[in-house]
Amino acid sequence: MKRFSICIIIFLTLSSFISPVKQQKIVYLENIRYYAYPDYTRVVIDLSSPLKIKEKILPDQNKTRLYFDLKNCKLSSEYPCEKTREIIIDSGNLKKIRTGKRGNYTRRIVFEFDHIGKYDKFYLISPFRIVFDIFQDRKKEKPIYNTSITPPKNLKDNYSIARQLGLGVHRIVIDPGHGGKDPGAINRKFKIYEKNLTLDIAKKLKKIIKQHSIYEVILTREDDRYISLEERTAIANSKKADLFISIHLNSAPRKSARGVETFYLSFASDPWAIRVAAQENATSTKTIGELKSILEQIVKNTKISESKILCNCIQKNIVTQLRNKYRKINNLGVKKAPFYVLVGARMPAVLAEVSFLSNSQEAKRLKTSSYRYTIANGIYYGIISYIKSLGKK
Ligand SMILES: [Zn+2]
Repeated sequence: MKRFSICIIIFLTLSSFISPVKQQKIVYLENIRYYAYPDYTRVVIDLSSPLKIKEKILPDQNKTRLYFDLKNCKLSSEYPCEKTREIIIDSGNLKKIRTGKRGNYTRRIVFEFDHIGKYDKFYLISPFRIVFDIFQDRKKEKPIYNTSITPPKNLKDNYSIARQLGLGVHRIVIDPGHGGKDPGAINRKFKIYEKNLTLDIAKKLKKIIKQHSIYEVILTREDDRYISLEERTAIANSKKADLFISIHLNSAPRKSARGVETFYLSFASDPWAIRVAAQENATSTKTIGELKSILEQIVKNTKISESKILCNCIQKNIVTQLRNKYRKINNLGVKKAPFYVLVGARMPAVLAEVSFLSNSQEAKRLKTSSYRYTIANGIYYGIISYIKSLGKK
């Protein structure tokens, strides 16, 4: 009995010690960023450490306001002062974001809209971010699909329906990895930067698509500028793109590593895939492991099966095109990994690591325009073969 009482005392002492510390832990609001477009807005809330929120929509007639409280939260000293009270957004369906204090340690964030449609919310870590993808309701618009055709009931997602109905691809977003202050991987000996190579391959790819097909192509960047990983997918979502292809160059400490590999978004158990994702996300490999539970919800809404098919088509065709002209092209295959740049993409989305700039022979080849053209050509044939598999040329 005595021992039992001591246990209770220890428990009470411990809990009274732990609780206030837990309550007092302050999370700092570092920034609120937004990417606003006419029908779609992505908002990113940057915080100093993890904080889960519960958002609500005010039940006014037009559903114009969404709000949530950040508890135990203060503005960071780095928080931009012009965003302290409200952030006015001129374009897009989101009109403004208001921030206000509720007591000493609670910040209320309010999004004001014309009209809120469907939205997704998810978290990213290292650094911690809350991301909102908000869509404007377009009830009055004509439906995308011909409603006289009844899609089979056993289909899992809209893209499978698109496949069944023979709806093709119209708009392709190509994402040249890195840019501006983020050079990506660097090979100092050969003086090559990933950001320059990805941009050149993307531009070549755009030219090839324009010359040989009717598809509209949009690049996430046309020059050497920094774009956050969150904005890249936001561009694809806002343009209602049908495909999203992110182009990167691989790098490994083992200089003999070489070849081509293509990824789609999912959890990775393969240590190599975890390493590549950590490198591209600018996070640690430990963070990738912690992403599993956070990404579970997001992956459910992602076009995994279509992305996998696109991945196969692109991987196979890059390798085929390169092997037609070059020797020792390693096919490292199609893999899955949690790349931030693919998170929240509403269309089939892949990330291609088109060669290793850390490998001497591939670095030498990457310096030539003809090698980069052959890669671009391979991606093009990959896109065409995917579209053909949809039943449309
Ligand atoms: Zn990269």
